[in-house]
Amino acid sequence: MVPLVQGYSTEMSQEVTSLGVQVHGGMGFIEETGAAQYYRDARILTIYEGTTAIQANDLVGRKTARDGGQQALALAARIEVTERELREQGGDNAQATAQCLGAARKAFVDAVEFIVAQSKTNPNAVYAGSVPYLMLAGNLMAGWQLSRALLAAEKQLATGNEAAFMQAKIAVARFYAEHILPRTASLREAIVHGADSVTALALEAF
Ligand SMILES: Cc1cc2nc3c(=O)[nH]c(=O)nc-3n(C[C@H](O)[C@H](O)[C@H](O)COP(=O)(O)OP(=O)(O)OC[C@H]3O[C@@H](n4cnc5c(N)ncnc54)[C@H](O)[C@@H]3O)c2cc1C
Repeated sequence: MVPLVQGYSTEMSQEVTSLGVQVHGGMGFIEETGAAQYYRDARILTIYEGTTAIQANDLVGRKTARDGGQQALALAARIEVTERELREQGGDNAQATAQCLGAARKAFVDAVEFIVAQSKTNPNAVYAGSVPYLMLAGNLMAGWQLSRALLAAEKQLATGNEAAFMQAKIAVARFYAEHILPRTASLREAIVHGADSVTALALEAF
């Protein structure tokens, strides 16, 4: 999880704080709202937490390929348990979230299998997709935790405890599942099919 915390979270902070500026429009870009300050402060995070590519290389090499994908696949199995719990819990929000989580988990498993299969014979192809793999794994793990939050929030809601807060938790989890988790499909494509174009240009071309 360390590369995901330091790499994925910090990459997402760029997107979130950039959107914060966008939401405030011109007022966001100038200094009055404070939104630009968050964006500027976030910009260093992907560098001083260890750069994204270095975190991604660690995730591919030491955290995934070294044990033949065992830990990664064990996490996927735990995610599958959450999918089952969502389906058993029932209700539109849980069902929709289970479906998106399942698709994202499958994309992750495909990426892990690609990495394990290619890491010895074709390491360049594996490392070419390291940042997309970091983002895929991070997206999935975040979606998994939000799914668990949805499960907990629905149980609390049934008791009438802090209803508005619980409804917000559920809505955020479903939004993430339907709008952010599907990114894993395109990241999977980039990882599994995109290696050649990364290394296509000769060094002299730079
Ligand atoms: C304000 C600030 C505070 C800091 N505080 C701390 C601190 O408290 N503790 C600490 O230990 N360090 C700290 N650092 C150092 C920080 O950890 C490094 O800046 C960081 O690890 C990046 O190293 P670098 O700047 O030498 O970049 P480089 O390693 O030169 O990387 C440059 C670029 O090349 C890419 N790259 C490099 N190698 C590879 C590779 N093998 N494969 C693919 N891409 C690669 C990188 O991803 C990056 O985009 C701080 C830095 C700053 C700017």
